[in-house]
Amino acid sequence: MLIKLSIIIGVFMLMEGAAWAAHKYIMHGFGWKWHEDHHNHHSGFFEKNDYYALVFSFLASSSIIYGNTHEAFWWLTWAGVGITCYGVAYFVFHDLIVHRRIKFKYKARTEYMKRIMNAHFVHHKVHTKEGAEAFGFLFAPKKYEIRKKN
Ligand SMILES: [Zn+2]
Ligand SMILES: [Zn+2]
Repeated sequence: MLIKLSIIIGVFMLMEGAAWAAHKYIMHGFGWKWHEDHHNHHSGFFEKNDYYALVFSFLASSSIIYGNTHEAFWWLTWAGVGITCYGVAYFVFHDLIVHRRIKFKYKARTEYMKRIMNAHFVHHKVHTKEGAEAFGFLFAPKKYEIRKKN
């Protein structure tokens, strides 16, 4: 049980690194075509950017299925659960809390929440493939903290 839980948590944390790298080097690299409409105005509820969510869901479900059917790869099941948990957390943070794809009332209360939200707003100040910063989602360095003016 403890091993399974540490796989889930470990993969969850690795996924933030993977998402950061994918965002910086793929989405703002050769994959810009799918990410562009997330940085610019678009019509309709869906974005091309959602294809990335599909790719990650496919990865997660394949891991779970493969782990379930191949005894030596049992750990892949839990890695898949970790990817899924990250996907849910990412969706709630990025699509609901930051971009409000569904309208609801929420106000960030903790300093950390304000910091990661601010980091993503900084990321969206740039509407082009080049020149953006703050590629992380659930983690942001302290420099993105909103400074209180006194
Ligand atoms: Zn971006
Ligand atoms: Zn965004």
